[in-house]
Amino acid sequence: MSVVRVAIAGSTGSIGTQTIDVISRSGGEYEIVGLGVGSSADAVIAQAKLCRPKMVAVSNEVARIKVAQALPGVEVVADLAELARDADVVVNGVVGFAGLSVTMATLQHGKRLALANKESLIAGGPIVQPLRKIAGAVIVPVDSEHCAIHQCLRSSLDTDREVHRLLLTASGGPFRGRSADSLQHVTIADALKHPTWSMGPKITVDSSTLMNKGLEVIEAHELFGISFDDIDVVVHPQSVVHSMVEFSDGAVIAQLSMPDMRLPIAYALGFPSRSHIAFGAIDWKALSRLDFEAPDRATFRCLDLAYQVGRIGGTAPAWLSAANEIAVEAFLAGRISWSRIASVIEQTMQHHDGISPTSVEDILLADATARRFATEVLGQ
Ligand code: MG
Repeated sequence: MSVVRVAIAGSTGSIGTQTIDVISRSGGEYEIVGLGVGSSADAVIAQAKLCRPKMVAVSNEVARIKVAQALPGVEVVADLAELARDADVVVNGVVGFAGLSVTMATLQHGKRLALANKESLIAGGPIVQPLRKIAGAVIVPVDSEHCAIHQCLRSSLDTDREVHRLLLTASGGPFRGRSADSLQHVTIADALKHPTWSMGPKITVDSSTLMNKGLEVIEAHELFGISFDDIDVVVHPQSVVHSMVEFSDGAVIAQLSMPDMRLPIAYALGFPSRSHIAFGAIDWKALSRLDFEAPDRATFRCLDLAYQVGRIGGTAPAWLSAANEIAVEAFLAGRISWSRIASVIEQTMQHHDGISPTSVEDILLADATARRFATEVLGQ
């Protein structure tokens, strides 16, 4: 069996470091050929000394000069999209729009993309989708929910005919079960207490508003081509069932494991084969119960907002994501209350124009325009 060549864009972030961990345990199945970062010079130098990649991509110029000096004999480049050139799989763990070009280059080269970058499909969907037709261009999602659905769908040989609906599970976040009234005065610290996953502040707030789930609904629609009417959200506080697919005969197939991102990472690296290392194996003696309930759509308005925006399509999801980022930033800075996050997004979306994007520039412009309107809304 030949060694799979892996490039990691965003190698010093959470997905990147966990990817290196998975590969280091895999016993020579994989070879890291490229690492890419924005500006984390010291961290990527340390990684490169251990992983010995042929190429390191650093977008920040000052950091790039430092990296080049520290790593003689390594090809140091500016553009993270170059990582796709000599890899079989590219793990895209870049945070933000910088990840879009990595996604596009990987698919254009006809390579497998282990996708953890949210912008690529949520904002970039209209321009990324056509690239999936290129021979060899395959997206395997690195996100617990989408990875679960990807696995569940493998139990059908005719998904077009047999998939009845996707059931995305949501932990419900720290405010599950709370009324809109009782959420009027929650603090930043309250919103940052995620019950089951440990993540960065932005995504933890997104999980508290259910916007994270809303964005994942849009992503599931883009990834699997399932209509919004056939994607449902089920609250499941234990985060053990990572998502499910209900089929035409009533059967529901679910994927279960303990919360551990290394499972989706190993799945995407090894696809279509499964990893021989168990990440997130369940201790059935310790697992006492699995609960499920419907999301409270009236209190957590961001979920329905995302459905509405997803159905509009075009640049609307790019607007949603941008407006949400501005609103969450304002909340984390203590400028607005938690309850106002949804209103800021809603008011921003009222300015949305119906331009259909055809290029990266169109997507970036949509993002910038939405941010400008969201900032205006905040000032009102
Ligand atoms: Mg997720």
